[in-house]
Amino acid sequence: MTVLIDVRDLVGQPGSSRTVRVEEAIGGLATQLATVPEERPVGADLLLESVVDGVLVTGPVSGTMRLSCARCLKSFDRGFSLEVQELFSAGASPEGDEYPLGDEGSLDLEPMIHDAIVLAMPFAPLCRPDCLGLCPRCGGDRNLGECACPPEVDPRWAPLLDLHLDQD
Ligand SMILES: [Zn+2]
Ligand SMILES: [Zn+2]
Repeated sequence: MTVLIDVRDLVGQPGSSRTVRVEEAIGGLATQLATVPEERPVGADLLLESVVDGVLVTGPVSGTMRLSCARCLKSFDRGFSLEVQELFSAGASPEGDEYPLGDEGSLDLEPMIHDAIVLAMPFAPLCRPDCLGLCPRCGGDRNLGECACPPEVDPRWAPLLDLHLDQD
C-alpha cells in the first residue's frame, strides 16, 4: 500500500511549499489491544516544505482507533490526532530516521503515517481511568456489579491473618 505524492515541483526549490490533504486506508495497524480498521480511513493535513536536504512534511494525522480495555476487555473507539514532522531525503538509508525521496520526484506518505500511529497506540488502554476490571475469580465485570465475591485479601497482608496476638 502506498500514498504517493508527486513533489517534482518542490524538489530543488528550497523555500517553496504547499499543503496536501490525504484520506487513505492504512493497512497493518494493529497491536494486541489497539487497531485502526482498514475501513476507517486516516486523514492527514500536511505541509510540504522544500528544504536543502529534501522535503519536510509537517502536520496532523488523525483518525479513530478501536481499543480493547486492558482491564475489562470491552472494546471502544477513541479518536486520535498526532503531530508529525519528518524529513524525506534522497539519501535516506533504511536504518536512518529519514524517509526516502524517490528518484522520480515522489514520496510515499504511507510508512510515515503508519509509523506515527503505531508509536501512538497505547499498550494498556482503559475504557475509563477508574475501570474496575473483571473479577479474577468469577470473571464478572465489576463495573456492572456482576461480581458478588467477597473482597480479596491483599497477599502482602495474608500472613497477618494467621498471626495471633498474645494478650493477657
Ligand atoms: Zn474497562
Ligand atoms: Zn467475582
